[in-house]
Amino acid sequence: MLGLMMAEPLRVAAIIEHAAKWHADTEIVSSRPEGGIHRYTYADAHARSKQLAHALLRLGIENGDRVGTLAWNTHRHFELYYGVAGLGAVCHTINPRLFAEQLVYIINHAEDRLLFFDLTFLPLVEKLAPACPTVEKWVLMTGPEHLPNDSALPGLCCYEDLLAAETADYNWPSFDENTACSLCYTSGTTDQPKGVLYSHRSTVLHALGISLPDALGCAATDVIMPVVPMFHVNAWGLPYAAPLNGAKLVLPGAGMDSASLFELMETEGVTFSAGVPTIWLALLQFMREGRRQFSTLRRTVVGGSSCPPALMRAFETELHVTITHAWGMTETSPLGTASRLKVKQLGLSKDEKAAVLATQGRAIFGVDMKIVGDNGQELPHDGAAFGDLLVRGPWVVRDYFRSPAPGELTADGWFRTGDVATISPDGFMHITDRSKDVIKSGGEWISSIDLENLAVAHPAVAEAAVIGVPSARWSERPLLVVVRRPGLDVSAEEMLAFFRGKVAKFWEPDAVEFVDALPHTATGKLLKTQLRKDFAGYALP
Ligand code: ADP
Repeated sequence: MLGLMMAEPLRVAAIIEHAAKWHADTEIVSSRPEGGIHRYTYADAHARSKQLAHALLRLGIENGDRVGTLAWNTHRHFELYYGVAGLGAVCHTINPRLFAEQLVYIINHAEDRLLFFDLTFLPLVEKLAPACPTVEKWVLMTGPEHLPNDSALPGLCCYEDLLAAETADYNWPSFDENTACSLCYTSGTTDQPKGVLYSHRSTVLHALGISLPDALGCAATDVIMPVVPMFHVNAWGLPYAAPLNGAKLVLPGAGMDSASLFELMETEGVTFSAGVPTIWLALLQFMREGRRQFSTLRRTVVGGSSCPPALMRAFETELHVTITHAWGMTETSPLGTASRLKVKQLGLSKDEKAAVLATQGRAIFGVDMKIVGDNGQELPHDGAAFGDLLVRGPWVVRDYFRSPAPGELTADGWFRTGDVATISPDGFMHITDRSKDVIKSGGEWISSIDLENLAVAHPAVAEAAVIGVPSARWSERPLLVVVRRPGLDVSAEEMLAFFRGKVAKFWEPDAVEFVDALPHTATGKLLKTQLRKDFAGYALP
């Protein structure tokens, strides 16, 4: 027997409709890439998203068509999220930090028909355009005053001209909630980038899921600033969760340096932010140098790479800002787990609590997880057994977009994350490595991430990576590669001594190499495939 409740499909447009109706005067403040601050309300954003929908329809965009963006976190990008998806097309956010060949591959693979881009990316787009035949029109996200008159881009026009020609009189259509709404490619550290095609249903459920108090936690009293880019897994869902909860949204545009972020946080009263560890490491340095304090920021979510416990400690004690450590991936929309205490842990000592909070955390409702061994057998939640992390749920990918080999899941319907993890008896998951980065020494596993987190706790270390190198005796041993902090020195012997007593003896790295910089992916993660190439031929006894 079916239930007798309304069968209202979950749609992304319903989020902006809700915000415009019930939080009409709540602000979206955005730092414009062309300069200055733009300020308006959810009611205004809704009206302009409808104007955009009219403009897209006039340009012939139909259900399922892909509309690409190369853009910062701005109010116009926000309007694209809703205008494109609202009419039933697919908003394809593209990471401008990828290599040109990857960008061309992605745009052609997605067959984007229109491409919206910020002024910053004009030179990049001019280089890409000849290799992107599916793009009929390139739209510069600004007003006519910034439109170049000597550009060779096909059908170049500007965003404000498109909107100015349209009315806001538009009713969002209703359709199956499984309709695709946005598309995001993985950064392709090991392979060609792969497209994850989100649906209206998965996006709305994810936005509700991340709003929960033990997930990211969002409320109408929050002022939310996603530092994580809107081209990186939809800024972790915050451009949906903020209007869903009626929270003020602050968008930092191209100003991703610490000084600009700090100033915007202070002037707009930001209470809650989110981003990768690199951003917060730089901001911590900036705060220390100027002996600054935040006046409104209370918490931030850190994920995308392992958050070093030393960073969590410094934010808590020096800046009075709580870091929530979270884990996820493009394939999981992205939120999978977040680290928040359970009531039984409230009585633990400060250090014990910090150790729990430093893990990647618990599964939030909507994401189930397990760890399995080499033969697929489920491993115990004892905090010690390492295994491949598998996840499933309504906002986890089933297949990649236009995959030549569909069937990503295990026979019993789980997605292989490619991460290796432990799960504690209380359900706290701890990522020890990407499966390709695991170091196996004399048959035992060594966590490169744990060693890296320890290394960056040394005051002279700016960044560190640990890779396995061949060893005649142990098959593989850990090599520590370190970038020193400017003006500070530390020797290899001192660095190795720093590990003593902090990890099991056989985990201690065998050697240290100092470099000027480490290779990174377009989303700021350590590119260990490159590092292994750089140290190919390196061997230990
Ligand atoms: P890509 O896989 O293309 O680099 P994603 O942003 O989807 O891009 O990256 C997901 C991966 O990032 C995860 O599978 C995991 O390895 C890593 N990751 C994300 N969050 C964390 C975290 N909190 N701790 C450790 N690793 C993380």
